[in-house]
Amino acid sequence: MRIILLGPPGSGKGTQAQLLVQRYGIVQLSTGEMLRAAVAAGTPVGLKAKEIMASGGLVPDDVVVGIISDRIDQPDARHGFILDGFPRTVPQAEALDELLKHKHMKLDAVIELRVNESALLSRVETRVAQMRERGEEVRVDDTPEVLTKRLASYRSQTEPLIHYYSERRKLSTIDGMMAIDEVTRAIHRQLLALGAVEPKSHGKSYARSAAKAAPAKTGAKKAKVAKKAAQKPAKTGKKAAKSAKSAEKAVKGAKKAAKKTAKKTVKKAVKKGSKKSPKKVTKKRAKR
Ligand code: AMP
Repeated sequence: MRIILLGPPGSGKGTQAQLLVQRYGIVQLSTGEMLRAAVAAGTPVGLKAKEIMASGGLVPDDVVVGIISDRIDQPDARHGFILDGFPRTVPQAEALDELLKHKHMKLDAVIELRVNESALLSRVETRVAQMRERGEEVRVDDTPEVLTKRLASYRSQTEPLIHYYSERRKLSTIDGMMAIDEVTRAIHRQLLALGAVEPKSHGKSYARSAAKAAPAKTGAKKAKVAKKAAQKPAKTGKKAAKSAKSAEKAVKGAKKAAKKTAKKTVKKAVKKGSKKSPKKVTKKRAKR
C-alpha cells in the first residue's frame, strides 16, 4: 500500500503516519525527518537545507525528489509506504508520478487531513511542550513566527495539490479535528473503501486475533487461517515476526487439538459399536 498524507503543519500527519505504520507494517517516509537528519549529520544536502528549514521555507524540489527516489528503492519500502510531508509542491507531485511510473508502482490514496487553522498554533505549542517534557530537542522551526511562514508556504505551494489529486481521483479528505483514534479509524475505513487494505488482512492485529482464536476452534481450517495470518506479517519487521511466531504456535495448537478430537471420536464410535469404520470417522473429523 502506498499513500500520501497531506495537511498543514500541526494537522497530525506525523502522528497518523506512525499509527498507520504500526497497523499495516509499512514504512513512514518523512522528508522533514530525513532533512533534519541530514542537517544533523552535516551532509551536503543538510548544509543546503539548514537555513531554508530554519526560516520555514521549502527546500528545492530536486533535492527532496532525489531523497525520496533513493528512499523508495530501499528494501523496507518494497511492501509499501506512507509519504509524510512529500510532495509539497505540484512539481514534486509530478516528479513523484513519473518516479512511481518508472518503478512500476501504484499510488493507492492521498489522504488530506483537514483542520481549522486556528487550532494549528495551539497544536504545535502542545507538541513543543510535550517534547520539552520528554527531554527531546525542540525543532528550530516550531516557533510561532516560523509556523506562520510554514503555513503561508502550505497555502501557496502545497494546497494546490488538493486540486491536483482530486482531479486524478486520488483524494480523500478526513476531518483532522477529531480525536487521534477517530482520525485513524476514519483513515482505515477510507482505505477499506478504496480497496487499499483487505478487511481481514490489516497486518499484525489480525495475526494476533487469529492466533488467539485458532486453538479454541480446533480443526485444520482454523489452522489454515492462522497459518495465512502468520505468513503475512512475517515480512514486516521484528514485532510482526513475533506475531507470526505466535500465529505459528496457534497452528500447532490447532492441529494438536484436531488430532485429539478425532481420537476421542474414534473411541466413542468404537464404544457405541457404530457401523462407521473408525478409520472413516477419523478422516472425516480430521478434515474439519
Ligand atoms: P516537516 O517536518 O514536514 O514539517 O518539514 C520540516 C521542513 O523541512 C519544512 O518546513 C521544509 O523546510 C522542509 N521540507 C520537508 N519536506 C519538504 C518537501 N517535500 N519539500 C520542500 N521542503 C520540505
